[in-house]
Parts: sequence; C-alpha cells; structure tokens
Amino acid sequence: MRPARAVIDLSALVHNARVARQHSPEQMMAVVKADAYGHGLIPCVTALQDEVDAFAVAFTEEAARLIDAGLTRKPIVLLEGFLDAAELPFIAEQQLVCVVHSAWQIAALARLSSQQPVVVWLKVDTGMHRLGFQPEQVLAVWQQLAALPQVRLLGLSTHFARADEPECPVTLQQLQAILALQKQLNTSLSLANSAALLSTSAAAGNWTRPGIMLYGANPFPSANRLTESLEPVMTLESKIIGVQTLAAGQAVGYGGHYVTSAPTRLGIVAMGYADGYPRQAKNGTPVTVDGQPAQLVGRVAMDMLTVDITHLPEAGVGSRVELWGKQVSVDTVAQQADTIGYQLLCNLKRVPLSYC
Ligand SMILES: *Cc1c(COP(=O)(O)O)cnc(C)c1O
Repeated sequence: MRPARAVIDLSALVHNARVARQHSPEQMMAVVKADAYGHGLIPCVTALQDEVDAFAVAFTEEAARLIDAGLTRKPIVLLEGFLDAAELPFIAEQQLVCVVHSAWQIAALARLSSQQPVVVWLKVDTGMHRLGFQPEQVLAVWQQLAALPQVRLLGLSTHFARADEPECPVTLQQLQAILALQKQLNTSLSLANSAALLSTSAAAGNWTRPGIMLYGANPFPSANRLTESLEPVMTLESKIIGVQTLAAGQAVGYGGHYVTSAPTRLGIVAMGYADGYPRQAKNGTPVTVDGQPAQLVGRVAMDMLTVDITHLPEAGVGSRVELWGKQVSVDTVAQQADTIGYQLLCNLKRVPLSYC
C-alpha cells in the first residue's frame, strides 16, 4: 500500500474544542463544513458531540450526511441557509437551522406550508459585503420574518471580514453596527469565527462559531500571534520510496528548478499535489524525516516530491516523512506556498484518513 496518509488525532480535536469553549461565554457551534476542513465530517462530529451546542455546515447536502449517519443529537446550522426553495420541506422536517440572508429566501419561506417552524438566524452584512441584509433593512426584514408563523427567529448573525488582523478597526465597526441592531431587537447574536473569538471577548456574542482553531491551525496570518495551546489535529505523512545521490551541479525535478550546490542525497517521497500538497511550496519548505528537520527541494510533482537528506545519513527508503502535523505546522507550509492553512487542510484528497 502507498504510505501516504493523513492521521487525524481526535483527542486533539476535543482539546481544541475545549479551548474554544473557554472563549465562548454562552453557546458554541462547531464549524464542520467542507468535510470538517478536510478531517472527515462523521468522525469529527462523533468526537465533538458532547463538547459543543450545535454543528455548522455550509449547505444542506453537508447536513444530510450528518442526518444519514444519525448524528442529529445537536442542532445543525446551515451557514448559507437554503440555496434552493426546494430544500425547504427537508429543512423543516429535519429541523435544520437556516441562516437567512436574502429577500428571495424570505419569499420562499412565506410560500412554505409546514407543521414544523423553520428556525432562522437573520444574517446582517455589517461590512464583509458577502451575504446578508444591510443594517438599515434589518428592522423591516425582522418584522417580515416575525410575522410568518412558519418561521422561528433565533437572532442576528454577522461575519467579520478582518478579525484575523487584531489591530484593524473594521472589526469594531462591524461589532458596533450589529450591537446597535441588537439593542433595538433585544435578541441573540452569533458573531465570532476563530480569529474573533481568540482576539476580543467583546466580539463573542451568544453563539460563537469556531472553525479553523478546532483543527489546531492558526487563524492569524502571522504565526506568532497565537498564544493558545492548540494542538494540530491532522498529520500528513508518507515515506521515502527512493534515494538519489547526486554530485554538485545537478538539476532536480521538472523544470530543473533546483540545482545541487554540493554533493547531495535526495529522498523521493510518495506525496504530490494530487494529494493536496501545494505545488507552490518553495525550496526550503520544512518537513521532518524520521523526526529530524529537513527541507523540500525542487518542484512538487503530481505524485511525488523531493527532500534533501544529505545531513541525515541514517535516512533512506522507508523513512517516515511528515509534511505537516505536530512537528511541521500547516501554517508554515501554507506561508511557503503563499496560501493559508485552511486551504491546505480542505484541499486534501486521495490520501486515506486514519483516526487515533
Ligand atoms: C467558515 C465560517 C466560520 C468559521 O471560521 P474560522 O475562521 O474557520 O473559525 C464562521 N462563520 C461563518 C459564517 C463561516 O462561513
């Protein structure tokens, strides 16, 4: 069997959920969209059931996976609500919680005849300019929804655009906009993603929505910002399947993009961009080989990549390589590939997941 795999540490997931819980003054919904950020929806939700008050997914098909698995003990929130009115009977029957962000959704709710009310968060666009009603529309929209017997309103939600930049004043402006509405409606608030929840307790609201921190990755782009002891949940690993011993001046891999400057031993690793390891990762991106620091050299190919093991004479075919995990932070790899840990985690594919 090919040695590439992702090992998911569910006890680290639970640990991180408890850290998020400490920052959540009231309720907390664990964000498990995109297959729990690549960690596997069903095992992650099973592990978190006793730790959280609800689970949040992006859309109905993701919720249906939880329903099919019988994981319905905690409410399931659809962060984008329904994308088609045809989903509404299922949503009502299954008591999925909907974020309502657009007038067309209200019109669809008004047409629904249902025994069970649809439970709704009203989404306010306080500055992200993605989904939500403008603050000046909210009172009228709230009254519209409140007048529908088939709707039960939970409160107001919003999403911060720049919470990962703790010095940025935009978050405070967004917070003030939603607090002004809350004063008039006297209702619950759901505001905080991981970055907001870790940077300012003022932004927590009644229902927090941590995602990335549950998986032990850093929501802040500057890796040293994180003070909490989050534990990486995913370890992406493989093995060396071949060794090359090269003289100085030899070009390595596609494009001859890396040239040895001295006699070099290279390990060829069974891991490539078809597995979700980023092709953009630069020469020098850290890995560990049998637990020792080493570096990526040359271009990442579809199924393989190359690491320099000149300084590790014991290493060779069969040596274990960690691409990210407990020893190599996914955030560091992301920086080396001009992206964020979020994207690397949820881009994982082809490699089997195993759980411990
Ligand atoms: C994805 C998402 C979150 C979680 O964000 P993290 O940065 O992963 O904590 C919270 N709220 C909404 C609306 C989201 O789409």
